[in-house]
Amino acid sequence: MTPNEESKQHSGKPRILVVGGVAGGASCAARARRLSEDAEIMIFERGPYVSFANCGLPYFVGDVITDERSLLVATPELFKRRFNIEVRLQSEVRAIDRAKQEIEVKNTTTGETYRERYDALVLAPGSAPIRPPLPGIDLPGIFTLRTIPDSRQMKQWITERKVERAVIVGGGFIGLETTENLVRRGISVTIVEMLPQVMPPIDPEMAVPVQDHLAANGVSLHLSDGVAKFEQNPDGHTISVITKSGAAFSCEMVLLAIGVRPETTLAKEAGLELGQLGGIRTNDHMRTSDEHIWAVGDAVEVRDFVTGDWSLIPLAGPANRQGRIAADVILGRDARFRGVQGTAVCRVFDITVAATGASEKTLQRRGIGGQPAQYEKIYLHPGHHANYYPGAKPITMKLIFSTKDGRILGAQAVGEEGVEKRIDAIAMALQRNSTVFDLEEAELCYAPQFGTAKDPVNVAGMIAANSMRGDSPVAHWKDAVGSKAFILDVREPGEFKMGHLEGAVNIPLNSLRVRMHELPRDREILTYCAVGQRSYYAARALRLHGFNARNISGGFRSYGAQRQVEGR
Ligand code: FAD
Repeated sequence: MTPNEESKQHSGKPRILVVGGVAGGASCAARARRLSEDAEIMIFERGPYVSFANCGLPYFVGDVITDERSLLVATPELFKRRFNIEVRLQSEVRAIDRAKQEIEVKNTTTGETYRERYDALVLAPGSAPIRPPLPGIDLPGIFTLRTIPDSRQMKQWITERKVERAVIVGGGFIGLETTENLVRRGISVTIVEMLPQVMPPIDPEMAVPVQDHLAANGVSLHLSDGVAKFEQNPDGHTISVITKSGAAFSCEMVLLAIGVRPETTLAKEAGLELGQLGGIRTNDHMRTSDEHIWAVGDAVEVRDFVTGDWSLIPLAGPANRQGRIAADVILGRDARFRGVQGTAVCRVFDITVAATGASEKTLQRRGIGGQPAQYEKIYLHPGHHANYYPGAKPITMKLIFSTKDGRILGAQAVGEEGVEKRIDAIAMALQRNSTVFDLEEAELCYAPQFGTAKDPVNVAGMIAANSMRGDSPVAHWKDAVGSKAFILDVREPGEFKMGHLEGAVNIPLNSLRVRMHELPRDREILTYCAVGQRSYYAARALRLHGFNARNISGGFRSYGAQRQVEGR
């Protein structure tokens, strides 16, 4: 029996209580109302706002969003009038009495504590920024960014303290978005990141263009080093951020953006099952270990769509969808959450970086379904629209696919334009368990100012499908460097002179057919050009003439990034 039916038996009105009134909680409550006019729906939010745009906060700090009110997606009054949902702000849910199906709520303005009965309880308490217990962590001027008051305090500090230098600890999405916004305000920013790359969800060679772009915009990057402590400087005005390697950065402001941890105090104290990663465990109906309690959003562990592992992937899209699914299930529908692909996008100054599915490093670390992943990857650098139409910008793309059946496992892209539209198309394909053969055949929008008749998504599929069919097996730079293979550079001599792989022989594509006799038949030939297209034509011609040839994916442009990663 669903809570809806159960409650209707005694009161006729199911009582749905929601803890947390932002992404997951608000969408759950609103969806529940769309499914039932009878239900009594209440949201308890401990903060001063309901349904605010936390994703907009970096842009509020940077004065791109100037009116704080535009961050408020909805108000309690709107919830009441439009949806007949009661929102109680400054109302912290302190405990769950599972036996009596009641919650204990504290009104943090009046101090009053009271109880409310539920038929269905939805936990959407989100996550909290990680603040490691480092010496000096509580010094004034060290911020985290999660709420509107956080962003207000940061703005006030920037203005009052006339901040000129800031250190961002953590080079993930929030760190990078805030970096851009601080630079926009004329602040000089240093990013301190423990990993050897920014943007941890993507692979290191794909983060290289982002790092280069940050540096080109005057941002100092300090990678592969964690923060050890913070110290107040004798001037009483500045803080020193001291790293494990002993480097010190003086600044007037620090943002800690090193990730979040799920808010699980309530769930834990109520004895609900938690996962090994510390999030609330639910089934694919978003139901917790208690049949009357659901949980959604950053607080829950989710199945990684590709690897099948439990993961914590705090993103707004999944939180919203899970909220909707919980409402559906509570009101008697058989909705199921499909797992999280980690589809995400971030703008950093003039470039966009986006990804979906598993990264290569995740596949190497976790495998798929507990087994080592059998995968291949390809790189490409197509224009975001037809090259003959003014303004075409290259996109650097990486597609990872299963060598068993061509199933898409992940994709990443970086560029100035058209990045997220390609990743969105691949994200949808990935969720349908599509293959690289499907990407080949995808019918996508085309006019010269939007794309190419063979869209970058098609081209990615074609390169991967050519490899799967054995028409053009791909090689990578690591196969070429120091190998016994014959390395054939098919670019023009001028390009070759500008830089090439040591030991490579230059035969431009246009003279290849008449110079094939110069090539060895007893060695593998690895071809390359600038981005991998001419060398693909070369590899195909060579294979048709009986040579053992493979094309180095992504060409010389990918070499630079991969060399940077390997060389460090
Ligand atoms: P939240 O939206 O955090 O809501 C949880 C709410 O529960 C909070 O308001 C909290 O006060 C309340 N609460 C907690 N405990 C209690 C309690 N005991 N009683 C009452 N209330 C309680 N995601 C993206 O996909 N794209 C982005 O561009 C993006 N940008 C972001 C930028 C920033 C600065 C931040 C902070 C996050 C960003 N995110 C982004 C992540 C996204 O905002 C979260 O994944 C999403 O908000 C999670 O939704 P949620 O409902 O689980 O939690």
